Amino acid sequence: RAKAEGRNAFQLYQPAMNARSLEHLALEAALHRALPAGELLLHYQPIVSVAGCHTVAAEALLRWRHPDLGLVSPADFIPIAEDTGLIVPIGEWVLRTACEQHRAWSAAGRPPVRMMVNISARQFRDHDFIDMVRRVLRETGMVPGLLTLELTESILMDDTCQGIALLEELRMLGLRVALDDFGTGYSSLGYLKRFPIDELKIDRLFVRDIDRNPRDAALAAAIISIGHSLGLRVIGEGVETAAQFDMLAARGCDLMQGFHFSPPVAAEAFPA
Ligand code: C2E
Ligand code: MG
Ligand code: MG
Ligand code: MG
Repeated sequence: RAKAEGRNAFQLYQPAMNARSLEHLALEAALHRALPAGELLLHYQPIVSVAGCHTVAAEALLRWRHPDLGLVSPADFIPIAEDTGLIVPIGEWVLRTACEQHRAWSAAGRPPVRMMVNISARQFRDHDFIDMVRRVLRETGMVPGLLTLELTESILMDDTCQGIALLEELRMLGLRVALDDFGTGYSSLGYLKRFPIDELKIDRLFVRDIDRNPRDAALAAAIISIGHSLGLRVIGEGVETAAQFDMLAARGCDLMQGFHFSPPVAAEAFPA
């Protein structure tokens, strides 16, 4: 942009850019300390069955309580964690903490729910990934059949053969795999044909205007129908209103998640 605006513009633009990269560097340095300093925590958002209207799963969502900045959004720090590779140790901590939480709820006699954990492409490509998952399952005693890993299409894009092999290994461990944010990114029906997955999460982009925009309603219906034809369970994300719930329910969506039911909450608040 600076170039297009001429030489002088470059000088005006640079200070802002420096400020931004300084901010980025500061955040990066702070993120290095976040895990050992105990600043990371998980919130859990209920996922509700449309048929029974009860909670069947919890999605673990990472939060960072920065000493000065307060709660930093994953949108702001997950990309940094991915670029620096910090997502690998942080992701292991997330999986372990979610599994431990699951055990704690079971031990307290809570009705069993599935635990859903996000995995980024960088983690999935890590050579230790499958061993890490095995290790965490063993050390936490998590029932593999109650764990779902959420992956995005970007994981499947770059390394097809290895991706398929990894997904099969995960499912041999007894886990389920969900395709997160489906319909955004590089959506290709070819992925659905090739990749062994169990669940599809419809991105909230399609849910947001579903009761106002017939095109969104048509796309959501098509995604649900494709999912069902392939034997997948379909989860609607970002359901904020009764109208959105009704639209998705009428189209046969199996599970839903969103502020209409509950925002992500602290572990202590989840059972209620
Ligand atoms: P995601 O996996 O698609 O998670 C759903 C996001 O939608 C969450 O944002 C959740 O708070 C938000 N959400 C839920 N219901 C509603 C709703 O009704 N309306 C709206 N507007 N938003 C809703 P959050 O927690 O900020 O996380 C953002 C993204 O960061 C996640 O998207 C996921 O891609 C990533 N992320 C979060 N935790 C982790 C993690 O532990 N590991 C990795 N690798 N990524 C994570
Ligand atoms: Mg997710
Ligand atoms: Mg999502
Ligand atoms: Mg997302």
